[in-house]
Amino acid sequence: MFVGHYAASFALKKFEKRASLGALFLAVQFVDILFFPFVLLGIERMNIVENFTQSTHFELEYLPYTHSLLAFVLWSVAAYAVFRWVVVKNHAVAVVVALAVFSHWLFDLLVHTPDLPLWSDTTAKLGLGLWNNAIATYLLEAGLLLLGLWLYLRSTKAATTVGKYGMGVFVGFLLLVNVFNIFGPPMLDTKLGLAVFALTSYFLFAVVAFWLDGKRS
Ligand SMILES: [Zn+2]
Repeated sequence: MFVGHYAASFALKKFEKRASLGALFLAVQFVDILFFPFVLLGIERMNIVENFTQSTHFELEYLPYTHSLLAFVLWSVAAYAVFRWVVVKNHAVAVVVALAVFSHWLFDLLVHTPDLPLWSDTTAKLGLGLWNNAIATYLLEAGLLLLGLWLYLRSTKAATTVGKYGMGVFVGFLLLVNVFNIFGPPMLDTKLGLAVFALTSYFLFAVVAFWLDGKRS
């Protein structure tokens, strides 16, 4: 799943206003931010296979350190610890950041084909496989994202014109990007290209979300 993960960022921001929306945007993609460099380093493995599912062009072969259930628990606990004792030093903020990290697993569980291990690569692998239906995948991600946006907009108030329309336009842009992501041919055909594209997107989207959030109160 790609842009749908941000539904959790918006929803969690509603519950804890002191958490930075930019940080929540990075937190929901945290394991994927690790995954692409891990692939380049040979720690985890994926292959680019055109139309591996209706919605994706990659076969996720080996990803226990980022996408196993155990890894999610450990990364979420680590995120809690960093935000509780190092960065913001606030229990409630640390809890929502940890939940944001963990939410990635719940959303991925819906769409992935069975490639999410419980702990090691030899344990049962989970995934409900919605990726095999591109339209359903797109509608699920769009629906989640719009629901998140709605919760966010209802609980914050615009301070400027940019604040009033900016986040809606931004989410519209994310939904457009996802059209190409889900229905298009492989955007990039090398793992390095894919990694650069993914990481650039994650950081850029977080910066925009952080900036637009500053225009609301
Ligand atoms: Zn993922």
